Amino acid sequence: MQHQAKKRYGQNFLRDKNLLKKIVNESHIKDKNVIEVGPGQGALTSFLAEQAKHVTCFEIDQSLKPILDPIEEAYDHLDIVYADFMEQDLKAYGNELHVVANVPYYITTPIIFKLIETKEIKTASLMIQKEVCDRLIAVPGTKAYNNLSVVMSYFAKVYKMMDVKRHMFVPKPNVDSAVIRIEKREKPLLNDAQEKIFLDIVKTAFKQKRKTLVNNWFEAYQIPKNDLQNFLTEHQLDVNIRAEKVTLAEFLAIAKVWPYDL
Ligand code: SAM
Repeated sequence: MQHQAKKRYGQNFLRDKNLLKKIVNESHIKDKNVIEVGPGQGALTSFLAEQAKHVTCFEIDQSLKPILDPIEEAYDHLDIVYADFMEQDLKAYGNELHVVANVPYYITTPIIFKLIETKEIKTASLMIQKEVCDRLIAVPGTKAYNNLSVVMSYFAKVYKMMDVKRHMFVPKPNVDSAVIRIEKREKPLLNDAQEKIFLDIVKTAFKQKRKTLVNNWFEAYQIPKNDLQNFLTEHQLDVNIRAEKVTLAEFLAIAKVWPYDL
């Protein structure tokens, strides 16, 4: 059956069975409830169904139904829902969910935030743009380290499973890819009030990467620079430090004792 790939839906399909098997094997989904975002032509789907307890796929493109129907019929424990993943309430699909997907790149970041916010999702193994992967796993002091790296390491342990070159996809995208593994932390590192402060101060800290923490926070919150400098010194941080050098542990420590209104 012929299908014309739709750019607006981020359709870049995988064919290589060894690659697909490797992704599924390293996703540790045996007997688990799995969600797939965008099954496309079903390349990953049957490998997922071979191992998982149950698989629910969300595909926005109805025209893929004739290709996906035979795969859905082959497995009793596989359901394909033709709908926008971003509009789904995932709670309805179980309280321990594992996502595996070759994600549509036009919504990589919104998908990642949805996975982070949905507490039923315990792990995610995602094919994403290599550049986004580099930011998500970046460590302090490197160019790729940003707001997303810190927020991600707060909510989850993340690592790169593998690099994937662009020529593995049909049609070939303009960028290389990587599969990232996200394992959500079971217990939050902060209480709710501290978490709110943490997310806000991390976001504002990276607002202008070349500026110091003091300057970024001064602009965001209008706290006198002197006060901010004293606050940093009291907590063993250099008054001229930039966010790109601040570790997760340091941001957590700051959030716990942050004395100002936001
Ligand atoms: N899993 C297939 C593969 O690996 O070959 C297809 C991956 S392709 C990169 C992304 C898939 O996500 C496409 O099938 C596309 O139609 C689907 N998609 C795009 N936006 C979506 C959305 N908002 N909700 C659900 N599926 C979406």
